[in-house]
Amino acid sequence: MPDRSDFEKCSFCGKRRKETNLLIAGIDAYICDECIGQAQMILSEELPRKHKDAVKDIMLMKPREIKAYIDQYVIGQEEAKIVLSVAVYNHYKRIGVSDAGIRHKSGARTAVDDEVEIEKSNIILVGETGTGKTLLARTIAKMLQVPFCIADATVLTEAGYVGEDVESVLTRLLQSADYNVAAAERGIVFIDEIDKIARKGDNPSITRDVSGEGVQQALLKLLEGTSVNVPPQGGRKHPEQKMIQIDTKNILFICGGAFNGMEKIIASRMQTNVIGYSASSMEQLIDKDNMLQYIAPQDLRKFGLIPEIVGRMPVVTFLNPLDKTALRRILTEPKNAIVKQFARLFEMDGIALTIDNNVFDFIVDKAIEFKLGARGLRSIFEAILTDDMFNLPSKKDVSELHVDLGYAELKLSKTNIARLKVA
Ligand code: ADP
Repeated sequence: MPDRSDFEKCSFCGKRRKETNLLIAGIDAYICDECIGQAQMILSEELPRKHKDAVKDIMLMKPREIKAYIDQYVIGQEEAKIVLSVAVYNHYKRIGVSDAGIRHKSGARTAVDDEVEIEKSNIILVGETGTGKTLLARTIAKMLQVPFCIADATVLTEAGYVGEDVESVLTRLLQSADYNVAAAERGIVFIDEIDKIARKGDNPSITRDVSGEGVQQALLKLLEGTSVNVPPQGGRKHPEQKMIQIDTKNILFICGGAFNGMEKIIASRMQTNVIGYSASSMEQLIDKDNMLQYIAPQDLRKFGLIPEIVGRMPVVTFLNPLDKTALRRILTEPKNAIVKQFARLFEMDGIALTIDNNVFDFIVDKAIEFKLGARGLRSIFEAILTDDMFNLPSKKDVSELHVDLGYAELKLSKTNIARLKVA
């Protein structure tokens, strides 16, 4: 006598229950494991295509407006802001030129001139750690509402070596775009510590330099603008994994690095240049305390970046070291300044936080004394307020917290300074 399960079959392919690994019943239909797998594949192919039409227009602001936006979040760094605003404006205008699909703020389409192909302007930011390189890149991505990711150049290696393939950078961008390929293709990638993959020594061919020149060569491919097969979940490529193709031609790459020792390279170039040409008067004009401001592409080559990489990052700019005034402003002025963040946290518990001005000066002095830079401001603030953040939420009758200098000094003296060291 036929079993009931003999009549149960997949409503899509018709296989009987016995012929499948798993048959799932719906209200009045069945689906087998194989059909689920196939449907999943169709989804992963079709959804990105559907997304393609759903990419939002980028509201491109004029360079002055871009800078005004960045000013709300980043203190100082005037030169870098101007250079970046122009580069970002040109980059997205360029996408408008080639795709003719992005409207400018006015709503007018960019004039298309097929004769002129505008080249991509990837950017390189040179400046001490903690001076705002990542913050600048992140702020621009936020302004444009485009996908953004940060990659660390030091973990990248040539394909086939221990470490991450350069394609992993695009995996991260794709993930930040929620797998919307079209959106990722107009995103921004920030590659940190680009200086750490500089060629070591002048003769690269003797030994293999997997984490230096090899990575630069691999990165070059991304910067140039090609179609890259990206493993959607990251990790090494393997034959079974379905790859997603990403075209990098409209992705903006912003690279950052501290380039320790760069000052000497710049100084020696400038000295060579001024020989025989009113050397002493030229020397007087040079601000020796901030040599990075004179950075030029040839210095990057001398440092160990291969000429092709330097060529692909034509916009070079610098960040100033943060002085006391800048640190003081960073504490209170940016739209999401540290002070505002803490005040907001207390406010959520119904507590009004007030802080005396000389406490801010004290925090800045300590950040300088401990050589913690801008990142240290937050650690010091945390150290001062941790006890209160622990205790006050449980106290019903407290509705304000006032921090004066004596209180801040007392709280900080109780913390282990070594703990404040930022990574
Ligand atoms: P970098 O990438 O140069 O090492 P970051 O951009 O990561 O430095 O800066 C670290 C933190 O310090 C930022 O999150 C921000 O809070 C603060 N910061 C650094 N520079 C500035 C600046 N110029 N303006 C405002 N905040 C800054």
